[in-house]
Amino acid sequence: MSFLHYKTHIEEGELVIAYLSRENMTPLIVDSKKTYNNKFGIFKHKDMIGKEYGTKMPSHNGRGFMYLLHPTPELWTHVVPHRTQILYVADISYITTYLDLKPGSIVLESGTGSGSFSHSLARTIAPNGHLYTFEFHEERAKAVKQDFEEHGLSDLITIECRDVCKNGFGVTDLVHAVFLDLPAPWEAIPAAKEAFKQKRIGKISCFSPCIEQVQRTCASLNENGFVEIKMYECLIREHEIKTIPIYTVADAVNKIKLQQDKKRKRKEDRDEQDIANADSKLSKSKADPPNLYVSKTPNEVKGHTSYLTFATFLPVLDDEK
Ligand code: SAM
Repeated sequence: MSFLHYKTHIEEGELVIAYLSRENMTPLIVDSKKTYNNKFGIFKHKDMIGKEYGTKMPSHNGRGFMYLLHPTPELWTHVVPHRTQILYVADISYITTYLDLKPGSIVLESGTGSGSFSHSLARTIAPNGHLYTFEFHEERAKAVKQDFEEHGLSDLITIECRDVCKNGFGVTDLVHAVFLDLPAPWEAIPAAKEAFKQKRIGKISCFSPCIEQVQRTCASLNENGFVEIKMYECLIREHEIKTIPIYTVADAVNKIKLQQDKKRKRKEDRDEQDIANADSKLSKSKADPPNLYVSKTPNEVKGHTSYLTFATFLPVLDDEK
């Protein structure tokens, strides 16, 4: 099983994402001796074997169904056992783009945490890039190493249990990009500077929930010679779709005239039949124009996760050494 290659049919021992709804998904390792029970019924693993990924599978006792999905980094982010706070897809896509990551990129990440971001990074830099990821919590590092092995990512990801703030990364002149999701990223910035390929432009990003952390990170980036220091916040905003009629100028003028007529008639307290006539003309005119779809966003946007600080590493010139 691999997160990097899609296959069509489910086999024994593979990871399947059981999708019940957007908010309700579960990772299952297919084991023909097991059953999976949920509010939609009993699902026998052995019935999954040989089915195509994407299949809508009815429950054994006919109570409901679920979809059997092929794992992707996005789905893994939904179902990963939370050993830490994790990055979600909005931040993941933003960071990946702003770090200019592509197949072949060599990337350094710390901390690894639950490995949510690592899965996306691995897919982006495959097949010939490499991710060096560092986590100082031993149990977490072990668990995530096992995930990488089971998900076919071991060739692309090297994980090391290491305190990067105290001991640096142990790599020099190697990487194109650095991503830090640490409580004190500023402590790792001098070591990150050493890790960049020294003759190329590189990109760094730090993910911090508090503005005070951002300030300290920016100060350290500045002291260490990074340029183009920028901070972003990625917020998810809902768009409500509405339809509005499109009027020609003549229609709009006509509509205003009819409204004015209606007002005047009310004022003059004319008989009710006149008002009803004006109303029916107005509703006819409303039905006539074609509709345009527009989106409206709520004024208040919730969902702060963290601030994203980006900066550029400039190549070291020979006479700077
Ligand atoms: N970005 C990860 C993800 O998407 O799953 C989550 C990272 S989690 C918020 C931060 C991790 O950094 C924790 O697992 C913590 O143990 C680790 N950490 C904190 N300080 C560290 C240090 N000095 N060196 C290495 N890892 C560290």
